[in-house]
Amino acid sequence: MEFALTEEQQLIQDSAKRMVEKDIAPVLAAHPSDKSLPREAMAKIYPVLAAQGITAPRVPADEGGSGMKMLDYALVYEQLPAWLSISIMGHDVTFARIHAEATPEQRARFLPGMLSGDKIGGTATSEPNAGSDPRGLTTRMTVEGDTAIVNGRKIWITNGSVADVLAVTCIDGVDEKGRNTLKRIVIEPEHSKFEIREIETTGLRQGHLSEAVFEDCEVPAANILSSGGDAARMLTITWNGNRPLVGLVAARLAERAFEAAVDYAGIREQFGKPIAGHQLIQKNLADIQTAIMTSRLLCYRALDLMDQGARNNADAAMAKRHATTVCLEAISKAMAVHGGMGITEEAGLEQLWRDARMLSVPDATDEILTLIQGREITGIAAFR
Ligand SMILES: Cc1cc2nc3c(=O)[nH]c(=O)nc-3n(C[C@H](O)[C@H](O)[C@H](O)COP(=O)(O)OP(=O)(O)OC[C@H]3O[C@@H](n4cnc5c(N)ncnc54)[C@H](O)[C@@H]3O)c2cc1C
Repeated sequence: MEFALTEEQQLIQDSAKRMVEKDIAPVLAAHPSDKSLPREAMAKIYPVLAAQGITAPRVPADEGGSGMKMLDYALVYEQLPAWLSISIMGHDVTFARIHAEATPEQRARFLPGMLSGDKIGGTATSEPNAGSDPRGLTTRMTVEGDTAIVNGRKIWITNGSVADVLAVTCIDGVDEKGRNTLKRIVIEPEHSKFEIREIETTGLRQGHLSEAVFEDCEVPAANILSSGGDAARMLTITWNGNRPLVGLVAARLAERAFEAAVDYAGIREQFGKPIAGHQLIQKNLADIQTAIMTSRLLCYRALDLMDQGARNNADAAMAKRHATTVCLEAISKAMAVHGGMGITEEAGLEQLWRDARMLSVPDATDEILTLIQGREITGIAAFR
């Protein structure tokens, strides 16, 4: 068992910190912190992320990706601003899913631009009436000659409104048991017409969370991902990587709140001494630090299992649910340490809290994660 970063991992982390400071923070600072970033700004940021290898970390280098261990990816990933972490994850899983389900010709068409960061990707699976239960999907594609016609509505698409490449999960038929079969099709806004709009949300506001409506949307049938890959299975595999990554975003947000709380407790005086000297303030600080540490350890472990090729369904679910729950509480405690200042925009903690509040939803809610872990423990699925 080894808890310290290797020299190489330390270099990866240091380089990521420098990238954020030098190449990303100035772009973000030029735009309002509570509005989705314009496409031109995203176009400056994505090639920077590509240079760090995180536009396609989960696909081996000899197959067209940048081939990183999930743990190394995480060390870069957790340095990013929270909304950008969610954005690059939406892009990177789209790359991995297209890679897994595409023919060699399709890979050559869609993936190089996504690897270089010139094109941004997103996956549209959730629908207004199908979130936790993907079996409820209703978006359908039918094929007429060389054209696929897509009809349906997708919601909560990370990167949706700025994506050049959208992998849209559709029903394309039924299996022998009468269940819907799923296939993904790549829809490029440059070539196909559909409506897309931004959804205003509590946090992660410089990012993009979009709704798309497809009404007889015509797409070349050559864009149906048809290598025989199983779209439903691929969703599960990629979710098992995403969950600990989302947990790490929560841990990083809590860490920023912790640093602010420690500083404030050292300078704010009440009852004749710095509040850091009051026992209950120390308890709050100790609780916050414990939340960050336990979250990181669980998330790193879930990712390490994945790197070793081991099953990590329960570990990934546990890591995300634990991290997003305790880190949200931790940020709230950091706000409490600040008293009235904690709830001001000026202190910046409320934004950390709003961003963290978003994280319990994507890649499975707390309840669904609990059921996934319960199924792994008991061997019994409690979903239906
Ligand atoms: C920041 C963010 C990014 C996202 N990115 C994407 C994306 O890129 N692509 C995409 O397709 N989707 C994305 N989503 C959507 C996300 O995956 C869904 O919101 C999520 O799966 C929950 O679905 P829902 O919102 O429809 O809630 P529902 O499934 O309707 O759930 C409502 C409530 O019921 C609970 N519930 C449901 N079933 C059960 C059960 N069996 N037992 C107990 N409780 C239950 C849920 O936990 C929840 O509390 C994103 C969401 C967010 C917030």
